[in-house]
Amino acid sequence: MAKKNKKKIRQKVVRFRKNCLFCKKEIEIDYKDLDIIKKHLTNRGKIKSRRITGVCAKHQRKLTQEAQRARFLNLVPYVVK
Ligand SMILES: [Zn+2]
Repeated sequence: MAKKNKKKIRQKVVRFRKNCLFCKKEIEIDYKDLDIIKKHLTNRGKIKSRRITGVCAKHQRKLTQEAQRARFLNLVPYVVK
């Protein structure tokens, strides 16, 4: 009875390759680069997740910091209504 369920259901493992913009082009993330930061925000002003943009962990951390810095300085809005 239990053997019936032994059929393995293979789930597609989607591994995203290293697709980090900042690693590729060796860009330093800066809060003054609004073009770059705005690219990584949703249209409501939230920071896009790594899964969507493909940024590596190291640069995502840096990006978050810089985005928050930019928010604090009112360069980028906290919330878009
Ligand atoms: Zn990176």
